[in-house]
Amino acid sequence: MNLILMGPPGAGKGTQSQRIEKSHGIVQLSTGDMLRAEVASGSDLGKEAKDVMESGGLVSDELIIAMISSRIDQDDCKKGFILDGFPRTTPQAEALDAMLTEKGLMIEHVIEMKVDDEAMIKRITGRYTCAECGAGYHDEFQKPEKEGVCDQCGGTEFTRRADDNAETVRGRLQAYHEQTAPILSYYKEKGAVKSIEGMASIDEVTEQLNAVLG
Ligand code: AMP
Repeated sequence: MNLILMGPPGAGKGTQSQRIEKSHGIVQLSTGDMLRAEVASGSDLGKEAKDVMESGGLVSDELIIAMISSRIDQDDCKKGFILDGFPRTTPQAEALDAMLTEKGLMIEHVIEMKVDDEAMIKRITGRYTCAECGAGYHDEFQKPEKEGVCDQCGGTEFTRRADDNAETVRGRLQAYHEQTAPILSYYKEKGAVKSIEGMASIDEVTEQLNAVLG
């Protein structure tokens, strides 16, 4: 099963993808995570993407499309994948269609997570992840059981994204509304979109997702 999770930054795409990975045995493909790994490794691609990411803008379609196409070819995607943060522009959506046709694959579900922008700023500026295993936490909404210790792996190092500050978040929300939200009409015309209420609690959102995915 292949699906696309859509929603503005902070909607919970990453959190829910991690849960779907475990429950459905399919792999999360986050273009943001891939780009952050490239930046951290200091690769040419990372050097090209770094400044754009820090400003809250979008990295070039060409670069993203090539990156995701080779990722989908890897063995762990054979059982299925969750696209998180891709496609983000109409050219990316069109390129995705073409690449899936060529690979003999299809998207079963496009799921829109509906949320309020103002709440996203609060969600994003408080979030952080375990440096060891990538589990996600929040200063207010999702604290680890024992302060400073990851529930999942016991790690004690945590990281915050460089672009998770209030100023950059506004730019990222704007990019979403201007460039990404229009893709929903593209998929709606194909009759492929299901909307879920992303302002509900994390567990309730997971329940809504499971009801769609089966
Ligand atoms: P995310 O982790 O999805 O919030 O992505 C973080 C940043 O990476 C975005 O603000 C963009 O600068 C860049 N990025 C991630 N995915 C894409 C994409 N599909 N197209 C263009 N830029 C992207």
